Amino acid sequence: MTEQIYDCIIIGAGPGGLQAAIYLGRYNRNALLIDRGGGRTQHAKCIENFLTQKAISGKEIIEAGIEQAKSFNVKVEHGLVTKVLKNEFFEVYAGDKQYLSKFVIVSSGVYDNLPSIENLHKFLGTSLFTCVDCDGYKTTNKKLVIIGNSIKTVHLTFAMREMFTKDITLVLYTDKAPEEYKEELADENIPLIIGRPERIIGNEKMEALELQDGRRIECEVIMSHFGYKLNDGFLSDLNFKRDNKGFKYITAHNYESSLSGLYIVGPLNQGNDQAVIAAGEGAVAAIDIKKRLLER
Ligand SMILES: Cc1cc2nc3c(=O)[nH]c(=O)nc-3n(C[C@H](O)[C@H](O)[C@H](O)COP(=O)(O)OP(=O)(O)OC[C@H]3O[C@@H](n4cnc5c(N)ncnc54)[C@H](O)[C@@H]3O)c2cc1C
Repeated sequence: MTEQIYDCIIIGAGPGGLQAAIYLGRYNRNALLIDRGGGRTQHAKCIENFLTQKAISGKEIIEAGIEQAKSFNVKVEHGLVTKVLKNEFFEVYAGDKQYLSKFVIVSSGVYDNLPSIENLHKFLGTSLFTCVDCDGYKTTNKKLVIIGNSIKTVHLTFAMREMFTKDITLVLYTDKAPEEYKEELADENIPLIIGRPERIIGNEKMEALELQDGRRIECEVIMSHFGYKLNDGFLSDLNFKRDNKGFKYITAHNYESSLSGLYIVGPLNQGNDQAVIAAGEGAVAAIDIKKRLLER
């Protein structure tokens, strides 16, 4: 029996992977999309910056995208990819199955480093946010608390003040205050608190952030700034070029990684983390793979 060799296996059904799948399906290429479920876009309760969609949830985008990909004969399988190897073909392992393909698109996204705060998940995506480009606008003229653990959080605070709201309290979850910014923060009327957030108070609406030492800071919205990690454990047997911090993957203009035939789209590469950007990158990768399949 001949083993099936896919033209392309796409790992992850976020906007990046789904857009690639739709393009490859519409080229009548033999594409398989593997997704474990969940994912960052599923947490986006109200996306307002996706062209033609005044407001749409991430879940709606994903569900519609899966249906669209299937309608162009893309095979969609539920599974957790645990390993990818490259020999004559790419070997993709999920559960007890092994799949072979000529090309791979990795679109497995990232996950937020979220602090352990009581009630955080109750407000995530509605009044607790993790991304300025996604949700900064939703803090406009609101009482905002920014929580984070680095100097970058201080930089973010000045940016938020410039663009969205003057009513900000900065809570830094660090051992010592950033002395070099104390004066500037005071000049901008931004209280700086060093402390550890414990719980969010509020039923329907957010009311306050309570710290471990019992202090309460009234707020309508929170911006959490603790960075994120990549969903890339399954790539650990392969060698890739990463950025100078050894964090994100370096890709070419077509989103091909330093490993020939393996493309990386979405926030795993050096681009921004946005649904529309991941989708655009998925389209570029799929168009490139279509050309290379024709050359083969
Ligand atoms: C609260 C919140 C609000 C947001 N708001 C916006 C917004 O307003 N506008 C905007 O543009 N973006 C927003 N985003 C960001 C956006 O949702 C995504 O981060 C972005 O679309 C990237 O898409 P992606 O395809 O790269 O990854 P994801 O959407 O993260 O999808 C990756 C997929 O890969 C799957 N996966 C991961 N590992 C594996 C594995 N080993 N095997 C199989 N499958 C795997 C995951 O389950 C998931 O389905 C928001 C994110 C959050 C968390």
